[in-house]
Amino acid sequence: MTERNKAKQLSVDWSHCDTVLLDMDGTMLDLAFDHYFWRELVPARIALKRNISEADARTRLFELFAAKEGTLQWYCLEYWSQALDLDMVALKRSISHKVGFLPDTRRFLSAAKKSHRRLILVTNAHPEALRVKLSAVDFDHYFDGMVTSHEFGYPKEHEAFWPALQASLGFDRSRSLFVDDSLSVLRAARDYGINRVVAVERPDTGVPARTIEDFASVHSLDDLLGPKTTSAP
Ligand SMILES: [Mg+2]
Repeated sequence: MTERNKAKQLSVDWSHCDTVLLDMDGTMLDLAFDHYFWRELVPARIALKRNISEADARTRLFELFAAKEGTLQWYCLEYWSQALDLDMVALKRSISHKVGFLPDTRRFLSAAKKSHRRLILVTNAHPEALRVKLSAVDFDHYFDGMVTSHEFGYPKEHEAFWPALQASLGFDRSRSLFVDDSLSVLRAARDYGINRVVAVERPDTGVPARTIEDFASVHSLDDLLGPKTTSAP
């Protein structure tokens, strides 16, 4: 735990937490992979395909991405494969060696697993994207369940997602912790009444940490364990 976070005294009352809901990209896994994919690799492939500069491809793509932000299509590899005439799943697989954990993630996952709390992965990632990540880094054995919002038809940012998730999993929102790097997602979870919502300050290791004002936040997941705790929370 950093000195800054010690000073911040973020504390999770583990005695009032049965269920841990955890985002994947930018919370558990380094968002550098996804940023490289969407901001570098896809524009480079589109530039080649259309015989335009990478800068032009990036400008055009970012306009398309912005138009879909916050919707399930934004996260949908099938949608983008069709819209861009490019096999997004194959392209993701081609760089799966770049997938990696954020620092100290495994320490947190091990402690959460040992504590016998229910640990559920809750992601907006497309099921095929989840498969690519799972094939690259081994994390499924930590989890009691893995949910992608594509099963429900709404992204986590949408208010309809949370009651659907609750109906499916049956967790007690007053005894649940949810961690995510997206502030709009955290807002939706908080509005639904998830007891403790926590933001990740540095989802991409290639970019400096953000200052989070609206939510309690951690630099890395193991900050949730508290100082000097190495065993189960
Ligand atoms: Mg995320």
